[in-house]
Amino acid sequence: MATSWQQQLKKALSGHNTAAIQSQPNYSEAAAKLFKTVVTEEVTLAIKNEPSSDVLLRQFMPMAAETVHHPEFKLDPVGDHDALARQGIIHKYYGRVLVIASGSCAVNCRYCFRRHFPYQQQLGARQKWKSLITYLKQQPEIHEVILSGGDPLTLTTEHLRRLTDQLRTLDSITTLRIHSRIPTVLPERIDDNLLDWLTQLPLQKVLVTHINHSLEITPAAALALNKITQTGTTLLNQSVLLKSVNDDVEVLSELSHNLFKHGILPYYLHVLDRVQNAAHFEVDIATAGQIYSKLQARLPGYLLPKMVQEVAGQSSKSPVNVKPE
Ligand SMILES: *Cc1c(COP(=O)(O)O)cnc(C)c1O
Ligand code: SF4
Repeated sequence: MATSWQQQLKKALSGHNTAAIQSQPNYSEAAAKLFKTVVTEEVTLAIKNEPSSDVLLRQFMPMAAETVHHPEFKLDPVGDHDALARQGIIHKYYGRVLVIASGSCAVNCRYCFRRHFPYQQQLGARQKWKSLITYLKQQPEIHEVILSGGDPLTLTTEHLRRLTDQLRTLDSITTLRIHSRIPTVLPERIDDNLLDWLTQLPLQKVLVTHINHSLEITPAAALALNKITQTGTTLLNQSVLLKSVNDDVEVLSELSHNLFKHGILPYYLHVLDRVQNAAHFEVDIATAGQIYSKLQARLPGYLLPKMVQEVAGQSSKSPVNVKPE
């Protein structure tokens, strides 16, 4: 029997929750044709209940600005297609490998740098785990497996368990990292089965959430995060600096404090990847630097995310250099 989170996910993917978005004045059907509207009930409820919900809406609502062509904004801004060592396995950085674990997310974020990623060309799940294990055996310097987007928590726990049962047999692998937006957008997913799996997993566990604004931490999300902290999993957060969402010192500073309140440390603040159809989210680098140096002057070092940029061909994310205020 499908569990309630699976029903919720199915509804989101089949466009069941989109009415709240389609009824908005700035909604664009032409933009929705470029990248499907996908939102969860948790998100639409937050949009409805929150008077200043524009900061949420902008992240998920197709807008006419997406249809404007900007030649500097590319289909694959971070060079992921080139880096596919095996289908779905991206080994760009030393010691860690990123796996495109799933072809879908619980929400479609309009600024996503993988919005044009050819997920359908990926291997089936069983084949993918098999080829991952083969790859890891050949590359013993890899100690960390990163499950990334599409959102890995759209996979069932049984499926995740099958992967980690195999990872555990490799001495070289010490750490499992999960990049997921699901704890906040589909908190039902954080069920007992998932929590048991995490608790029992004999690896270092890291969950990197994706939260851009404090309003995304709804009461249900807060509860889900609290449960995860009790599984021995380290919680980190990555945000994307987005125009008219979080390009503001107050907003980012409040976010850092709120994350900490829920057991999460800020990790990365990404400058937008220049992906086609997302130009209207860009904060220019000079403004980004000004915001960041003000943020730096406000926050204790441990609550200051690293502001980084993905530069194709580099061996790590590149820090954006900012002078202190
Ligand atoms: C961002 C990223 C990682 C993780 O980088 P960290 O600096 O360890 O967080 C790994 N592989 C790829 C391909 C990435 O894009
Ligand atoms: S959850 Fe992450 S991978 Fe999925 S659409 Fe949003 S930004 Fe992209």
